[in-house]
Amino acid sequence: MIGRLILGDQLNPKHSWLAKVEASTVCYYLIEAAEELLYAPHHRQKMLGFLASMRRFAGELRLAGHQVRYIDLSHGVGDIPSFLSDEKASGRIQFWEIQEPDEHRLDQALRPLADRIVSTEHFLTERHSVAEHFKGKKTYLMESFYRQMRKTTGILMDAGQPCGGQWNYDKENRQAWPKGHQAPTMTFFAHNLTDLDKELDDVGIPRWGESRAQQFPWPLCREEALDVLRAFIQERLVHFGPYQDALVDHQPILYHSMLSFALNAKMLQPLEVIEAAEEAYRQGLAPLNSTEGFIRQILGWREFVRGIYWAEMPDYASLNFFDHQRTMPSWFYTGKTTMRCASQAIQQSLSNAHAHHIQRLMVTGNLALLLGMHPDAVDQWYLGIYIDAIEWVQKPNTRGMSQYADGGKLGSKPYVSSGAYIHKMSNHCGSCAYSVKEKTGPNACPLNALYWDFHDRHRALLEKNPRIGMVYRTWDRMDNEHKAALLDRARWIHEHIEEL
Ligand SMILES: Cc1cc2nc3c(=O)[nH]c(=O)nc-3n(C[C@H](O)[C@H](O)[C@H](O)COP(=O)(O)OP(=O)(O)OC[C@H]3O[C@@H](n4cnc5c(N)ncnc54)[C@H](O)[C@@H]3O)c2cc1C
Ligand code: SF4
Repeated sequence: MIGRLILGDQLNPKHSWLAKVEASTVCYYLIEAAEELLYAPHHRQKMLGFLASMRRFAGELRLAGHQVRYIDLSHGVGDIPSFLSDEKASGRIQFWEIQEPDEHRLDQALRPLADRIVSTEHFLTERHSVAEHFKGKKTYLMESFYRQMRKTTGILMDAGQPCGGQWNYDKENRQAWPKGHQAPTMTFFAHNLTDLDKELDDVGIPRWGESRAQQFPWPLCREEALDVLRAFIQERLVHFGPYQDALVDHQPILYHSMLSFALNAKMLQPLEVIEAAEEAYRQGLAPLNSTEGFIRQILGWREFVRGIYWAEMPDYASLNFFDHQRTMPSWFYTGKTTMRCASQAIQQSLSNAHAHHIQRLMVTGNLALLLGMHPDAVDQWYLGIYIDAIEWVQKPNTRGMSQYADGGKLGSKPYVSSGAYIHKMSNHCGSCAYSVKEKTGPNACPLNALYWDFHDRHRALLEKNPRIGMVYRTWDRMDNEHKAALLDRARWIHEHIEEL
């Protein structure tokens, strides 16, 4: 018997494995192993989402006539590699076939056990494509990779030139949220996953965040994922570009697609999502700035960070450019902080297992970096809390883009900001306990002093970066008394981090 392993993030019913039913010679295995549930402190919705989707997928395979062995939690499987070895030793399986695991940890563990390894048939590039594109270079540059992708795929190209004559329309994007504006409401699913939630309770798997098990909102199969895609294209793509960087009190979704879980579980293919967006543009249903901005996230960023992951792992996982050592304050896990921007981003993450990009980068990521948290702690938090968090995409985004722990391989400068940026892009500051206008003193927005303290502490590492020179020139021009007051305020914050 041939055993074909399907991992929790390989739920692609379009995979060529499944084109033919070979039930007498091929058995598909889906395994709920403890190691996969415990390698990070996972959000309840993340566990429910992946396990419920795996169960649904197995049911669909059976319905199509495939032979399936579903190893659920009650089997007490510790880890997938040992299970595969045991199945072979027992004689039940003579030959193991796997799809390339996207996580380095699993790739290392499963590769030696596999008799045949096939592609997941999901991504638009190979693992080594980014490394090849930047061969001999010290840093990676997304824009250069993205343009190459546009040229080779022909996406948003007209007669060999970028649609509209430009590669990038960000000048028309990144607008602040208009006062009183409401994004269209999104229709969520309402799956009842209370039994599964109880099973997880019974086996004692630690979890955090809101489960929403009674009305679980996320898509659990390809058909449902396609519904989310259609709704996004019809209702939200049109304003994706202008408001992609906005931060709005009590509006967690804005014009974002909410497709990352379905994409990362491989229910959807990146190319079909991109093509749906391009089609909307070609039919005049969405403007170019929004369409290009959205497509860039998937054709550019998503493929790019995956390539960096494979080029740089495993060393990437231990990089700590700033030698940051702090643990995370408890409010990162409860959302109970008086900083309005942080409490909104964290509380939304706890209740939805999702936050949009700017919340992840410029609120929580910014705070983690300014406060000097150890990148391992930051990685664990991001890997655990988001339903779309799989290491190949989470780690380059967290350790690289957000924490600059790679010293600039992925981004040309650290993404840090004072309160001014949050104030410009959000309506949080008006309801915050702190004043964004004040720079020093007990009422001042903590980000204001932390921003300068960060640059002062890391001057030796950052000063020569041409993109940061201006910051140091401004700092040097400030009078000494003001500088001392900023650093005093920052010292107080570092010493009373739990009280923020
Ligand atoms: C610190 C940090 C951690 C992150 N961790 C993850 C993660 O674990 N998993 C994950 O899928 N994304 C991650 N991202 C990227 C991005 O924030 C999410 O993909 C996005 O918020 C998901 O919501 P959405 O589907 O509504 O995305 P949209 O804003 O609608 O974007 C469309 C799609 O583009 C892709 N995309 C957008 N930005 C990125 C990016 N920077 N890298 C890779 N793909 C991107 C995603 O597939 C997303 O679904 C992270 C970003 C940061 C700053
Ligand atoms: S004042 Fe500062 S802490 Fe408060 S919401 Fe604004 S940026 Fe965030």
